[in-house]
Amino acid sequence: MTAIPLGLPGVPARPVAERRVSRRIQVGPVAVGGGAPVSVQSMTTTRTSDIGATLQQIAELTASGCQIVRVACPTQDDADALATIARKSQIPVIADIHFQPKYVFAAIEAGCAAVRVNPGNIKKFDDQVREIARAAKDHGTPIRIGVNAGSLDKRLLQKYGKATPEALVESALWEASLFEEHDFRDIKISVKHNDPVVMIEAYKQLAAQCDYPLHLGVTEAGPAFQGTIKSAVAFGALLSQGIGDTIRVSLSAPPAEEVKVGIQILESLGLRQRRLEIVSCPSCGRAQVDVYKLADEVTAGLEGMEVPLRVAVMGCVVNGPGEAREADLGVASGNGKGQIFVKGEVVKTVPESKIVETLIEEAMKIAEQMEQDGVASGEPAVTVS
Ligand code: SF4
Repeated sequence: MTAIPLGLPGVPARPVAERRVSRRIQVGPVAVGGGAPVSVQSMTTTRTSDIGATLQQIAELTASGCQIVRVACPTQDDADALATIARKSQIPVIADIHFQPKYVFAAIEAGCAAVRVNPGNIKKFDDQVREIARAAKDHGTPIRIGVNAGSLDKRLLQKYGKATPEALVESALWEASLFEEHDFRDIKISVKHNDPVVMIEAYKQLAAQCDYPLHLGVTEAGPAFQGTIKSAVAFGALLSQGIGDTIRVSLSAPPAEEVKVGIQILESLGLRQRRLEIVSCPSCGRAQVDVYKLADEVTAGLEGMEVPLRVAVMGCVVNGPGEAREADLGVASGNGKGQIFVKGEVVKTVPESKIVETLIEEAMKIAEQMEQDGVASGEPAVTVS
């Protein structure tokens, strides 16, 4: 068989949009804003005071591609655990603080990569901004001002009647202004709402009124199916306008699922180089093979593949050969056989029973060559400032 030139993977040549110009902060080694690649973050579900369980979950998140992790800090025991967790975690740890300003200081002292505060429920917080700004500056610790519709500042709730986009934005910018008075601008902001329509509008308004990097999130987005769709719609709407510097998908599901969804959203928008992509048809009355089964078996067989391989699994000869030719590798099925394409060339025709193993075999060969050619994967495709 003649060697087939594989070339570079088919990532979009242009970004989905020019990125909004934002100031850059450093969350540990991860740059956020200022044209840095959009990062994916999640939050642990363990008791933070259970250091072993928390580090175990952080390790799982790291393995799934999570770049920044947040941990809750509701008690002194949790605050006491932060230093060990921050030191042993492979990815930067953000402490999530509600109600108790003293834990903000504890998290900064513990060496957390950033601290999230909720302006709606940190009592007496506004009186302590000077001290917090000084401590954060001394340690180089950024602050996320994380406004949440469900815990909006009562003053703004009275003024606006409910958590409108304007109310969310005013709360965030008010809090930011308190830090700015002390010359502290190492800030990122989120204005989360469970309704993507309100959330999108809030972030658009916020993006127009400041240059802080923005952490996108649809809060309480729901179980995996609904939450995935809400997040994809909302993040897609904003990222396609260049808005958003780091994302957290919130699902009522294991946190590693949030990371998978977040990465897929970025890959779909060309904001991160895609990895394995299965292009499979929905099947129809013309299908001459069980497309669902074939697509599932090929997906399972190639799970964990890191190179940006596009594999087409098509049910018949109508769109099959065309799609299969566009992919790195593909199959067009018909008459109990599968025509196997590699980079547009038919390399062999195999009986239906051999389609899956042949595709996997060919995929491995291509992956090996991609690795030899230095085709990286997982790295963001776009770093436009
Ligand atoms: S490729 Fe063929 S089987 Fe699949 S949806 Fe298109 S027409 Fe139907």
